Amino acid sequence: MRLNLQPIAASGFTTARHYRTGEPLHVRWENHQLTLVTPGYEEACDDQWIAPGLFDLQVNGYAGIDFQNDHALSREALLHVVRTLRSDGCHRFLLTLITTEWPSLLHRLRRFREIIHADPELHAAIPGWHIEGPFISAEPGYIGAHCPECARDANPQDIRDLKNLVGNDPLLLTLAPERSGSLDTIREAVRNGFIVSFGHTNATRDQLEAAHQAGASAFTHLGNGCPQLLDRHDNLLWRVLDKPRLHTGIIADGIHVSPQLFRIMHRLLPDPLVWWTTDAMAAASAEPGTYTIGKTSVTVGTDGIVRHPTTGGFAGSSLTPIEAIRRGSQMLDRPWRECWDFLSTNPAKIMGLTSDLQPGFPSGFQLLRHASVNEYTPVPCVSPIASHLGMARPSKRSVKKPQPAALME
Ligand SMILES: [Zn+2]
Repeated sequence: MRLNLQPIAASGFTTARHYRTGEPLHVRWENHQLTLVTPGYEEACDDQWIAPGLFDLQVNGYAGIDFQNDHALSREALLHVVRTLRSDGCHRFLLTLITTEWPSLLHRLRRFREIIHADPELHAAIPGWHIEGPFISAEPGYIGAHCPECARDANPQDIRDLKNLVGNDPLLLTLAPERSGSLDTIREAVRNGFIVSFGHTNATRDQLEAAHQAGASAFTHLGNGCPQLLDRHDNLLWRVLDKPRLHTGIIADGIHVSPQLFRIMHRLLPDPLVWWTTDAMAAASAEPGTYTIGKTSVTVGTDGIVRHPTTGGFAGSSLTPIEAIRRGSQMLDRPWRECWDFLSTNPAKIMGLTSDLQPGFPSGFQLLRHASVNEYTPVPCVSPIASHLGMARPSKRSVKKPQPAALME
């Protein structure tokens, strides 16, 4: 899919169909904020659609920038990420920090927060945080591309350290409940307003149940953060899907989770419980080559797959949010309009944030043209993120990535 990269009009008006209802809407915006949404005329739509901006709960890096490295710690680097993501349909995301030494993770978080809170455009696009680790399993396979030496048990003081840093920012914490001290940690996290999600875990059924009772409510990229080979009688997937009550994240690229498993998960999980993510790293929306995730160098081939240098396992993705919508709807054979919420309103709800097409709402909005059932092209992207800055859409090389083999069924 090619994105139609055009300068953002700071103010304007148009008529477009609501992505869910198909109802014609006349919309106006000023300084990239919706100011009016009223019923429009059918004839004026010209097959143009309007939807809230996408919201990704896991972005580890993007467009050449790796959040796990110090080069990301500048306003310019973050603006580059924010604007490139917006050009890929994503108006908000959780900046994700993965397993490393705890003091250095806290230090990086503090620096990011200072930069982001000082800039309205950054703050609107990055409303909160995803802390994935270090309280995860160090077992081979479950650790994924994280640093095994840095994985460790959690305790409530770690949560208080986080809270002192982030204040009331929304925060998603991914942990493995089989680690010692996790129940007290989960209770403290929930008490402080954090959303606790399981991930990189081999927890037993009882451990999952106890942690769920303690307040954990989500699962991070189910089907990943686990070994390639699993026991056919009892494994983490069966344990989670046997009681589908968690807000379940899935990487919707057709690679991390096969199209077959993707469809099965969707049959078992109610739509409102599913959220899609890119789990994007620095290679997303960039050329193939060598990138980093923290201390690890990874290679990204022309197939767009991010591979760990020694294990050959996946290490984040190069998926863009708009491509996730296209691939996900293709895998499910459902119209993109039915899938849009998986990567917009559903993740926003998990974090207690709003996402809707209303004047003044922070979700931003996206105009799209509908070519066929699962084919569409974003048209001039407008968002409150840009605020009054009047900035232009960044130029971006058009990289045509080949279809992943996993989608060629
Ligand atoms: Zn992960």
